[in-house]
Amino acid sequence: MKKLAMIYEGKAKKVYKTEDESKFIVYFKDDATAFNGFKKGSVAEKGIVNNQMSAILFAVLAKKGVKNHFIELINEREMLVKAVNILPIEVIVRNIAAGLLSKRLGIEEGTVLNTTVLEFSYKNDELGDPLINEDHIRILNLAKDKQVEIIKSYAFQINSILKEYFLKRQIKLVDFKLEFGVCQGEVILADEISPDTCRLWDADTDRKMDKDRFRRDLGRVEDAYKEVLSRVMK
Ligand code: 5GP
Repeated sequence: MKKLAMIYEGKAKKVYKTEDESKFIVYFKDDATAFNGFKKGSVAEKGIVNNQMSAILFAVLAKKGVKNHFIELINEREMLVKAVNILPIEVIVRNIAAGLLSKRLGIEEGTVLNTTVLEFSYKNDELGDPLINEDHIRILNLAKDKQVEIIKSYAFQINSILKEYFLKRQIKLVDFKLEFGVCQGEVILADEISPDTCRLWDADTDRKMDKDRFRRDLGRVEDAYKEVLSRVMK
């Protein structure tokens, strides 16, 4: 499939139109940003890991009935996806306290949460992706109530599928961020599922194997990403 005009460039990905208007090509970059773009850098071959890992996980989820935008891998850094309109909502699912949840609520990082926590944030760089609730989604017209219900149900289903999938590979799924899009009137999972969008800890040692290594200058970022991919491929 031929790549046509680029329609979007984000911090970690580029999206291109194709000859088929119902399909896009996503290109995964090595660029890395954190803290709302304040910290910038790159992680060698991150794009390759994120592309391949997302492809595997989207295929796993599709098999279990989670509709998503993935069609097929094109090469190391590109995948063919269904054309969607991304809803401007980040959906965050948490199993273990970390990151902003720990900071906001004073819960020690690593505390196993007694219920799965679902959060929404408004995808808006200028505002710094603020935390929002369902009333905020309504007043900002970000999605319809029905769409929010579908998103919530998918988010919990995705969490239970991925938690089990990672644990079988000696990885704890601490938390993750999802984005959804609308494709021919239907809400489907989109974006990526990778060490950029998930917190992943080694099940035995709690060693961080995700973007926190970049955010917090923990070193060996590339190695961690590659190790996650090799475990996910098993
Ligand atoms: P937190 O809200 O603690 O910063 O992040 C929760 C989870 O969502 C983490 O796994 C984090 O990587 C992911 N996440 C939240 N916002 C973003 C974002 O803007 N970009 C990326 N790549 N991941 C995010």
